[in-house]
Order: sequence, then C-alpha cells, then structure tokens
Amino acid sequence: MTTVVEVDRVSKSFGAQSVLRELSFSIEQGEIFCLLGPNGSGKTTTMEILEGFLEPDSGSVQVLGSDPLSSGEVLRPRVGVVLQESGFPKFFRVGEMIDTWRSYYENPLAYNDILDLVDLRSDEAKLVRKLSGGQRRRLDFALAVAGDPDVIFLDEPTTGFDPEARARCWEAIVGLRELGKTILLTTHYLDEAERLGDRIAVLLDGEAGAVGSTQELAQLANLGVTVSFQASAEVAEQLAREFPGLKTADESLDGQIDDVRAFLRRLDLLDDHASLRAFASLRVQPPSLEQAYLALVSRQSEPMDPRSQ
Ligand code: ADP
Repeated sequence: MTTVVEVDRVSKSFGAQSVLRELSFSIEQGEIFCLLGPNGSGKTTTMEILEGFLEPDSGSVQVLGSDPLSSGEVLRPRVGVVLQESGFPKFFRVGEMIDTWRSYYENPLAYNDILDLVDLRSDEAKLVRKLSGGQRRRLDFALAVAGDPDVIFLDEPTTGFDPEARARCWEAIVGLRELGKTILLTTHYLDEAERLGDRIAVLLDGEAGAVGSTQELAQLANLGVTVSFQASAEVAEQLAREFPGLKTADESLDGQIDDVRAFLRRLDLLDDHASLRAFASLRVQPPSLEQAYLALVSRQSEPMDPRSQ
C-alpha cells in the first residue's frame, strides 16, 4: 500500500484556543477517508493544513511525499481542492469553465469524461449563475479534477443540499474513487461518512479519537449487533434474563447482543414452536456508524486505532 497523506502529531492553536492536539492519521492510495467530528472540532483546520494554507504549530504533514507548505508548485497539478465556498465568474457557461480549467494543466482529463463524471453533460451550455446549488457543487468537482489530480480534498461537499443533490454528489465522489483517486472528505453527516468512507477518523478533543471502518469503530465502541424477534411472554422473560441487553415488550424482544453465535445457538435450543417463531421473525442489524459515533463521542477516551492494537 502507498501512503498518500501522512499527518504526524500535528498541533494547532488559534490564540489561546487549542484546536488540534498531536493529531495523527494516514491515508492510503485509492481510499475515501472521512474526517468526522462535531462543528468546531478542527476538520477544516486539518484540511487547510493539508492544502498548505495553514502552518501547523508543531508536527508535520506530507501529501504525495511533499510538505504542502513548501511544495505548492509540485503539488498544485496533483491535488484537487473543493472548498466550502467557491466564487465563480457567474457569466461563464459550464463548458467554458471546464475548458478554461483544463487549459491550465499539462495532462488534463478528457472534457467529456469530466462532464460525465459530474453528470453535467446536459448543462454544458448553462450560465454558471443559473445553476442550482447542487449543480454548482458538481461544477466545483469538475474543476477540481480537470487536471487529473491524484488526491482530492473535499470540505463538507454536501452541506445544505437536498437528498437528491446529495445522492448525485455521492455518485460523483464514488466515480472519483473508481478512477483510482485518493479522497479526503470532511463531513458532519454520519450517513455520508458511512456511505462513502472506506475509513473514518472521528476528531475528538483535537485528536483522531478513533480510526477505522464503520465495523472497526463499532468494535472500538464495544457495540454488539441489534436483534429483534418474537417470543411468548414466558420465553421472552427467560431470554431477557440470559441476555441482559434484550428488552421485552408484549411478545417481542429487541436489544444488543455481544455474542451473536451464542445467541443463535440458544434460540436453536428452544422447543420447536418457540424456535421457529423466533427465527421466522428474527432481524439482525450490525451497528451503524451513528451508534458507534455517538458512543465514541460520549466517551471521549484515549486514542484508539485498531491497527495499533
Ligand atoms: P470544523 O471544520 O470541524 O467545524 P474548524 O476547523 O473550522 O472546525 O474550526 C475549529 C475551531 O477553530 C473553531 O472553534 C474555529 O472558530 C476556530 N478557528 C478556525 N480558524 C480560525 C482562525 N483563522 N482564527 C481563529 N480561530 C479559528
């Protein structure tokens, strides 16, 4: 695996406010890496350091093996950036903008490939000022990838979008991964991080409080799977005693189970009728990123990375 982005013990304060405290993480080639955290947790600050716009107080960062602060010239053609706000000349047409941007680079992506990637082919002749928010953000993507960069930084790409515009942006982001790009994405939307992130870092107290896939974060948060099923009052009462994570209501049970296999074996040992009823109604759900995130944020404990354990 090739490491494309390396953040090593980066600290950053603004006046007396310490925002990042020895933040460390790395991003491998071809992955979508999500930085997740409450508002004000330092996501944009991290992004700006990686883009070379801000200098860390201590620690170091490398993007494609170079320091973004001193290697702007080298990195500019290889890094695409989509900022939270962009100011376009609004009297241009979409196609003209893309063409102009392509002309700045030596080996740009093909014009039609860019339009297809961001789904703007039918809006090619539209004036930029006539685009919707979602279309404008997709034009941001188009310009960020015009030079065929290796790494793309996306800062809260779908904030304020309606569900349809978000879905289209997600498609464009997945399309970028399919082209082999490495993507760093900040978001405060848990569903966005769960949907797109190969790995997710949760910023807690200025550190990468937890790093991993949704499943790994759920493990770090000690979350079991959620089950629900039907049983007679008598059986339900018995099982709730044996599995303290289960709650009973009328003739149904639901709750969290740590050892799913032991639980399934136990259902199998019920008499035929009870066992069939339980299995026929059984629903098993792995923990969501939202459950893991909320558990981790409420704990705010020591740094935990499954790779370092
Ligand atoms: P996030 O992107 O997670 O919402 P930010 O990185 O934007 O968080 O901000 C983290 C904290 O740093 C916030 O409290 C913000 O007000 C503060 N901050 C960010 N940039 C500056 C700056 N240039 N000067 C002073 N404070 C700043």
